[in-house]
Amino acid sequence: MPQNNGNVDIFGLLSDGTTVDSEKKKSRKALLASTGVKEVFQEGKISINSYTCLGVQCKECIKVCPTTALYWGSGKIAIIEDLCVYCGACVLNCQVDDCIKLERTREDGRIEKFSKSKEVLLLQKKANTNKRVQRVRSVVLKPQDYYSQYPKDKQTKITT
Ligand code: SF4
Ligand code: SF4
Repeated sequence: MPQNNGNVDIFGLLSDGTTVDSEKKKSRKALLASTGVKEVFQEGKISINSYTCLGVQCKECIKVCPTTALYWGSGKIAIIEDLCVYCGACVLNCQVDDCIKLERTREDGRIEKFSKSKEVLLLQKKANTNKRVQRVRSVVLKPQDYYSQYPKDKQTKITT
């Protein structure tokens, strides 16, 4: 905490965005720990269009949210942003395209934006394909590794 001659620097604290940010992150971590859901994405944003939302007759998003970030309040779907892990389950199950908009950043910095269930499915498919390719690469020998298994004199014969 910033100090000034033994006193707390209130104005410094208020203007210090990094301190506020880290406090926010800490409280978010504590909240999420209680749900047991792991955070995968670095950061994200979520918004719900209350004009296109089907409202009380639907509530599908509330049912599928793994962290109970969504709730019914004041006649519309509301969200506790600190509880959202940007998983996309709500978008996947929403019957209205572009009703829930989500943007999230992966660990490698890739940004994903989506607001339709088919977009979530496509992202899922892509992620699964990447995982499969990585798994195959990890078990298949590279040509040079395969070649180095042979004694040196045999290696010459193979190349000629
Ligand atoms: S993306 Fe949707 S379902 Fe996933 S945690 Fe956030 S509000 Fe819940
Ligand atoms: S799933 Fe979509 S339409 Fe249904 S309540 Fe949630 S935001 Fe509204």
